[in-house]
Amino acid sequence: MAETPAPLAGAQAEVAELLSDLIRIDTTNTGSTATGAGERAAAEWVAGKLDEVGIGSQIFESERGRASLVARIPGADRSRPALLVHGHLDVVPADPAEWSVHPFSGEERDGYIWGRGAVDMKDMDAMVLALVRDWARTGVQPPRDIVLAYVADEEAGGKLGAHFLVDEHADLFEGCTEAISEVGGFSITVRDDLRLYLVQTAEKGLAWMRLTAAGRPGHGSFEHDDNAVTRLCEAVARVGAHRFPLTLTPPMRQFIAAIEDAYGVEIDPAEPELALARLGSISRMIGAALRNTANPTMLDAGYKANVIPGSASATVDGRFLYGQEEEFERQLAALIGEGVQREWLVHDQAVETTFDGALVDSMVAALKAEDDGARPVPFTMSGGTDAKSFQRLGMRCFGFSPLRLPPDLDFASLFHGIDERVPVESLRFGIRVLDRFLRAS
Ligand SMILES: [Zn+2]
Repeated sequence: MAETPAPLAGAQAEVAELLSDLIRIDTTNTGSTATGAGERAAAEWVAGKLDEVGIGSQIFESERGRASLVARIPGADRSRPALLVHGHLDVVPADPAEWSVHPFSGEERDGYIWGRGAVDMKDMDAMVLALVRDWARTGVQPPRDIVLAYVADEEAGGKLGAHFLVDEHADLFEGCTEAISEVGGFSITVRDDLRLYLVQTAEKGLAWMRLTAAGRPGHGSFEHDDNAVTRLCEAVARVGAHRFPLTLTPPMRQFIAAIEDAYGVEIDPAEPELALARLGSISRMIGAALRNTANPTMLDAGYKANVIPGSASATVDGRFLYGQEEEFERQLAALIGEGVQREWLVHDQAVETTFDGALVDSMVAALKAEDDGARPVPFTMSGGTDAKSFQRLGMRCFGFSPLRLPPDLDFASLFHGIDERVPVESLRFGIRVLDRFLRAS
């Protein structure tokens, strides 16, 4: 194991406390601005922590309380393109009754920091904050400009956070050609001397839709051949039961090859899910990146048992792979069929970049320097992140929030899960990796 550069002692000592403090600021995002004031408090807290070490920042509000913070740390060579390091401040709701600790306590227990946001994604927020504070105190300057963005509203689609900044304040990101954030950089243990580190290079696009069927209203006791509920349900059942064809995108090809190599198995290209199962629960997240999906999630029709309503509607959560948008919509239209209208509720692009170039080389080198059993591999995220917004400014976006995790930790289940927590040692590891990575990139 390589030695820890001495100046990082401060960052490694304070990162757990910074994360606890940040978790204690309840930034629950319910999707309503009426309850979004926590983001303002969190942004001001970050501003204060930066200010303590002489780093100036600006806070922008899209709506009252929906605050995002941006700071620029000047690099040694200001003629080089800048790197964006972004993280969201908001979290999904948590019910204290379901948790072992209060979800907004930020409690340290058994070597973990517990609380909502511990892995999604106040961990990365705190690691980056601890690192740049350490740099400022010890006089470290990054090789090129680093733009820090701590944003609101990611958990509701980012409209009032990253989306807003990109639309209204694109100048803040001038010169940024690459970005890092969630979800990726975490380890999956294959054996004692081999850990895969999953770096996100792609994410699926989002197509949330409403399906509406119309029919002839009438009395529930009569014979009736034009029932909106029946028509809608047939379409919903076709969509929900359909398995879209397997589509291996470049990052998933690389990912599957890495799994074959790491585990010494041959994967049936027609059914790669079977082999992915050995990755444990993380396979649920990754398996969904092998094909487009469309899951019905909400139904709405009628108001009385004996009244046939004139219309019925359903909501479907659709996700498509990069390059698959048209094909997805074509297949979806065929499934929905005649007599049912489809409208988009939320529609956002898929994101993909390649796992190569100087920035990726720096990630790989930094991981290997801190873990000689590290093997970084690209993967596609089935969910969406703020990368969708920043990609619109032409940036290559990576999910790289490095964490070396204990082999038995069910990491995937912690995202939006009960008893979300992160090992303190993993945070310290992450800081060391980020330090090497950012100083070399
Ligand atoms: Zn997140």
